[in-house]
Amino acid sequence: MRAKSRPLAILQAKCPQCHKGNLFETGPYRLKRFARMNKQCPHCEVKFAREPRFFDGAMYISYAMNVGLFLASAFIIYQLFEPKSPNTYLIAIILEVILLYPLMFRYSRVLYLYTFGGLKYNPTLDTKGNS
Ligand SMILES: [Zn+2]
Repeated sequence: MRAKSRPLAILQAKCPQCHKGNLFETGPYRLKRFARMNKQCPHCEVKFAREPRFFDGAMYISYAMNVGLFLASAFIIYQLFEPKSPNTYLIAIILEVILLYPLMFRYSRVLYLYTFGGLKYNPTLDTKGNS
């Protein structure tokens, strides 16, 4: 099987070390379980939480993503509808934040792990994490 590229592995929330194991137990819109992460990679067995409370730092990524969403939404709404009331922006952004919450939560953790996890891609790893 051909190896996944890094952007595709990020998009599919795969392990940064092997690009095969899933970071999360289920899909993003299984609402009762979307936040459940595997503690270690089901393929190469690397631990995803690099230290205690590692994923607390993902809040900063999540904040930046939400600010970006907020600005992009406000711009698009203004360009398309030129609404007279600020409530239009407020309602649209609240709906977006609620609907996109599972994706924002997951991708903030994925990006944080890829950026600060210190894991290098190693395509030769077998299922026990040995090269
Ligand atoms: Zn892995």
